[in-house]
Amino acid sequence: MITAAFILTLVAGQVAATPTTPKTKPNIVVIFCDDLGYGDVGCFGHPTIRTPEIDRMAAEGQKWSSFYVAAPVCTPSRAGLMTGRLPIRNGMTSPKRVVLFPDSKGGLPDEEVTIAECLRERGYATACFGKWHLGHLPQYLPQRQGFDEYFGIPYSNDMSAGGGAPLMRGNQVIERPVDQTTVTRRYTDEAIRFIESHREQPFFLYLPHTMPHVPLHASEEFRGTSPRGLYGDVVEEIDQSVGRVLQSLRDNGLSSKTLVVFSSDNGPWLSQRLNGGSAGLLRAGKGTTFEGGMRVPTIFWWPGTITAGSHVHEMGSTLDLLATSCALSGADLPANRTLDSLDLAPAMFGKGKSPRDTMFYYTRGELHAVRSGAYKLHLKTRHPVNYGQPPESHDPPLLFNVEVDPSEQRDIAAKHPDVVAKMRELIAVHQSGVTPVEDQLAR
Ligand code: MG
Repeated sequence: MITAAFILTLVAGQVAATPTTPKTKPNIVVIFCDDLGYGDVGCFGHPTIRTPEIDRMAAEGQKWSSFYVAAPVCTPSRAGLMTGRLPIRNGMTSPKRVVLFPDSKGGLPDEEVTIAECLRERGYATACFGKWHLGHLPQYLPQRQGFDEYFGIPYSNDMSAGGGAPLMRGNQVIERPVDQTTVTRRYTDEAIRFIESHREQPFFLYLPHTMPHVPLHASEEFRGTSPRGLYGDVVEEIDQSVGRVLQSLRDNGLSSKTLVVFSSDNGPWLSQRLNGGSAGLLRAGKGTTFEGGMRVPTIFWWPGTITAGSHVHEMGSTLDLLATSCALSGADLPANRTLDSLDLAPAMFGKGKSPRDTMFYYTRGELHAVRSGAYKLHLKTRHPVNYGQPPESHDPPLLFNVEVDPSEQRDIAAKHPDVVAKMRELIAVHQSGVTPVEDQLAR
């Protein structure tokens, strides 16, 4: 798996300390929505979308209110989650194309090591049910990246190579066009079957929903029922799915040995107007490096281990799920490469602060912003809605205190030249550690 091209240095402070090997191997479940905004669930403040199951998950678990994805659009965000590496390191973000398309020839390179590969090596059963979007050609599909099973739409549900979006099982297309009103329920059915059949063996279940990415589709049971309209119908159906997955874990006696993470791949798709979601009090949405593009509603759940109703205000990221999963399971971290992944377990268990104090915000192959502690510096920004427009450069950069001002409304750069200088230095150090690689999205 490791080639000469990947003899890279490990950045000090960016890799979790070697954990003592845990006695038990917890199951790990990641429920990942598509384009669900920070403000789109009840426990993160939505006034009319009803999410009793997600709210219960938060009440029994832990809210992370400064949790970030690796990029503000699908493909690079998912590459970051799967590998614990910023997508700039493996060619999964590009100045030429935003994400992978059905005519793309590229995908997540084989030499990348995914969470699924780390955990499978440690004896876990692994499955992915839902949207992959890390390459749809046979050499890039989930079963080439550590998953025993795959069922889902391999890219976004608005994409088609002719004949509509395909539904796949393993490497085979089994339905085209897929009936999108059924996918949330069918992914959930697969997840529950997988949980039941692996109750005696540790497992990693990745459940990346196709929804609420546009075009929106809800089943008969939910269509026309939410006060928020079709977008609400779709989110409420995902809420039911979350409830079914957690209930299946309880019914199989697995709730005390399973970590479940609920999150979203990027912020709301604002140009879709009422068919897109809401970032709540955060600025802008999908495609931008404002908080609304990359800070996502996130909940960790592990009854008896994570304190019920707890709340972490410090930073965390989907990038950290790899190091956290390795630490919890005793799996080896991928060797001989730079990781951007930190073990969140101490913060999750209330035993310490989150190790993450810095976040780099990339879009289209370019670093646009950095957060360090409470401060966030923007070198460039994109239009909040029409993010396809060329970015605007800021010199001097914009500086916000996102703890005092999470909506990024009050630029304080002029008052804090020392902070601006420090953050420019942080960017320079980071950029000196990034090696150019082949652009996978432009192939
Ligand atoms: Mg998305």
